[in-house]
Amino acid sequence: MKAKELNMDKNNDAIHRRMADMPKAYRKVYQRAMTGRSRKAAMRAMCLECCGWQRVEVANCSAPNCPLYPYRPDRVPVGRVLSSQVR
Ligand code: SF4
Repeated sequence: MKAKELNMDKNNDAIHRRMADMPKAYRKVYQRAMTGRSRKAAMRAMCLECCGWQRVEVANCSAPNCPLYPYRPDRVPVGRVLSSQVR
């Protein structure tokens, strides 16, 4: 993705430092979020970062009072049980 496509003119250095600290696999979604054109990518990037870049932790998020909770990616549909929850 070209730098000019990102919404990061004066924050360029900070954004690149942040990208350097995340797993390579998630840099594209972060870049997509920073274009300002994808709310879905922004929510995904925020939840992944919040959970230390662990997808399963996003699915198991235990903060239903977070404004992103209903929108987080990889959430388990209501009524479905994760295999990790089955004993
Ligand atoms: S919904 Fe959960 S994982 Fe997403 S930002 Fe909020 S607390 Fe973090």
